Amino acid sequence: MKLILLGPVGSGKGTQAGLISARYGLPHISTGEIFRTNIKNETELGKIAKSYIDNGDLVPEELTNKLVADRLAQDDCKNGFILDGYPRNIAQAKYLEGLTDIDIALMIDLSEEKIIERLSSRRMCSKCSQPTSLDWMVDGKCEKCGGDVYIRDDDKPEVIKMRLQKQAVPLDVINFYKEKGVFNKIDATDQVEDTYALVKAVLDKGNND
Ligand code: AMP
Repeated sequence: MKLILLGPVGSGKGTQAGLISARYGLPHISTGEIFRTNIKNETELGKIAKSYIDNGDLVPEELTNKLVADRLAQDDCKNGFILDGYPRNIAQAKYLEGLTDIDIALMIDLSEEKIIERLSSRRMCSKCSQPTSLDWMVDGKCEKCGGDVYIRDDDKPEVIKMRLQKQAVPLDVINFYKEKGVFNKIDATDQVEDTYALVKAVLDKGNND
């Protein structure tokens, strides 16, 4: 199953991708996470990406597209993958179409009010790289693996506002996947498990493998 997760920043795409990855045995490819790893390791890519990410802007196409093409060419993507955070605009959607066919484009939607609430309590685990939350952590550590957590630089309130303005899911991307007959949308207002039940219903319906 080749799946892309669309949705506004903070709608819970990363959390759902982690759950889907565990259940369906698919690699979880998060472009944001790849950039964060490169920033942490102070690579050339990381240095360039950081200046955009810190301003709530998208990293330029030529860097992002190549990174995705290289990743999808790896062996573990042969039977499918979960793309989280890509494509983010119509140019990326068209580029991706040139690489492979997508089975399901699933939009995980959430109101702006809820997004701000969730992003303010979001933390990232420095050990398993999964998102967590002040509400889920145990003794100040990641509830999944016990790792130390940190706040993403771009989860600071001033950057959250910029990201919400600059990174809404474009209508032409939604229409692109609607026309292909692969678009689905669910609402992520409820708890993670409730949202995951909606996700599974869509995937099991669409997955004819
Ligand atoms: P995310 O973890 O998906 O919220 O991504 C964090 C940041 O990485 C975004 O705010 C962008 O600056 C950058 N980024 C992630 N994915 C993409 C993409 N597909 N195209 C351009 N920039 C991206």
